[in-house]
Amino acid sequence: MAENTNRTIKKVVIVGGGTAGWLAANHLGKQLINEHSGVEVCLIESPNIPTIGVGEGTVPLMRQTLQELGISETEFIRECDVTFKQGIKFVDWVDNPVANKPSYYHHVFDYPNITELDLTPYWLDGLAGDKSYADALSIQGAVCDAGLAPKLITTPEYQGLTAYAYHLDAGKFAAILTKNATKKLGVKHIFADVLKVNVAESGDITSVTTDSAGEIAADIFVDCTGFKALLIGEALGSKFISKQNTLFADHALAIQVPYDEPAAPIPSYTISTAQQAGWIWDIGLNERRGIGHVYSSAHTSHEQAEQDLRQYIGPAAEGIDARLIPMNIGYRELFWKNNCVAIGLSQGFVEPLEATGLLVFDATSKMLATQFPAKHDDIATVAKQFNRNVQATWDNVISFVKMHYCLSKRDDSAFWLDNRDKNSIPDTLLEQLELWRNYVPTQYDFSNRFDIFNRENFLYVMYGMHYPTQIDAIKSRFQEDEVAKQHFKMMAQRTQGALANLPLHRELLLKIARYGLQKR
Ligand SMILES: Cc1cc2nc3c(=O)[nH]c(=O)nc-3n(C[C@H](O)[C@H](O)[C@H](O)COP(=O)(O)OP(=O)(O)OC[C@H]3O[C@@H](n4cnc5c(N)ncnc54)[C@H](O)[C@@H]3O)c2cc1C
Repeated sequence: MAENTNRTIKKVVIVGGGTAGWLAANHLGKQLINEHSGVEVCLIESPNIPTIGVGEGTVPLMRQTLQELGISETEFIRECDVTFKQGIKFVDWVDNPVANKPSYYHHVFDYPNITELDLTPYWLDGLAGDKSYADALSIQGAVCDAGLAPKLITTPEYQGLTAYAYHLDAGKFAAILTKNATKKLGVKHIFADVLKVNVAESGDITSVTTDSAGEIAADIFVDCTGFKALLIGEALGSKFISKQNTLFADHALAIQVPYDEPAAPIPSYTISTAQQAGWIWDIGLNERRGIGHVYSSAHTSHEQAEQDLRQYIGPAAEGIDARLIPMNIGYRELFWKNNCVAIGLSQGFVEPLEATGLLVFDATSKMLATQFPAKHDDIATVAKQFNRNVQATWDNVISFVKMHYCLSKRDDSAFWLDNRDKNSIPDTLLEQLELWRNYVPTQYDFSNRFDIFNRENFLYVMYGMHYPTQIDAIKSRFQEDEVAKQHFKMMAQRTQGALANLPLHRELLLKIARYGLQKR
């Protein structure tokens, strides 16, 4: 079917029904299926091979995606055990931990540029007193600390008083995406195992042979088979480029535990607590907590990692098994090869410190759907662009995640010391950090449009980690002290207002379950 004629592309087959497969199915279905296009989108899912079943943290882009896909926020919150996420609280990342005195900073979702004036140099100059960077430039850290929600019950769907994303149950999320793609968007769903991938001499995939649905041909195949990468890796041989020398964590131990008491407060942020050889995520869903230890097996044993996880949780984990998940850290040499595009863990993966999995797969599914070639002859050109853009996206993610580690002053284990070894740090990040010793980061340092972490994200982490930018030599450029002081004062007042008005997180979730949110 996929030999060299310039045919119109009529059929897309997605292999894999995890979150990545269903995100891709939704984006492609929305963009391509309509009565005039004649394009068919079909997803093949194995009834036997389980999905990875983790991936509970998201970032604000997910809000936009769900809205664009026509999913009601109320329905999503009720069906997927959803809670709100306003950012990540990083505990014990900056310095060696002190017993019973955890130190922390917030990487919140509200962007700090509330004004034309960049307040960062004024904060560096001490004009906000002893307020942390996040507290001086945003209300959201204080909102998180007070256990509050990002919106009121009267705030319409998908709107917030602060920027927010979600924590969700991965299995239930795949189910709602399945319903939307098949019932609303017209995506065909086949339950079968793919046994063989049939490749023509040209290198294009012609069809896949399944155990129960025969041979299925298509013009374009989307590989969403997870770490297995059945099509892009095994069949087409796109090499996996490991980034393990930069990001050392290669295993996770995941566990689900009940709340100590049914009405326990639910944090509206992910808690990430640094450990001797990695870190522990702690995500509060409506009905349970999802907790996991992400660690480097070169720096600790699996037994020790499990012991650290259980010590973190306490009695709530007694009698509950933790699941060991090996992780391939890195990405494919080509994400789009011939007529096959990889989306999901088959494309690449970086440990989940900043919840980048769903973010990258959502963003790249959208990229694929928007740029989808109409004719066979266009595939090579679109693929070239896609590969360039997706690689830039991954490189940005890797630099950003590495920065969390290499700015730490911890020296209580080889893991933290190794993370500061210059050979493990990407050259671009080293250059930027060198520059930012004497300059405040500007938007020109982030000129790639496909960077999914921007200047604002870098600023929260850099200054949360106490990065020592010295502005003495450029201080004369910042002459707006009085205006800056006014803004800091205004932010303190806005914070007090938000603390007085926003509901407790669990209280809002209960109200949404009962009454729902207003449509826009
Ligand atoms: C420890 C850990 C924590 C994570 N935390 C986060 C997080 O907080 N936030 C976030 O955004 N992301 C996170 N991720 C990433 C997230 O889990 C993935 O992005 C997401 O689940 C997508 O996975 P997937 O769909 O690519 O693969 P999978 O879930 O593995 O799905 C693969 C699919 O392919 C199918 N399949 C495989 N072989 C065949 C075959 N031969 N025939 C037919 N079908 C087949 C399977 O049945 C399955 O449906 C985390 C990942 C890990 C490992």
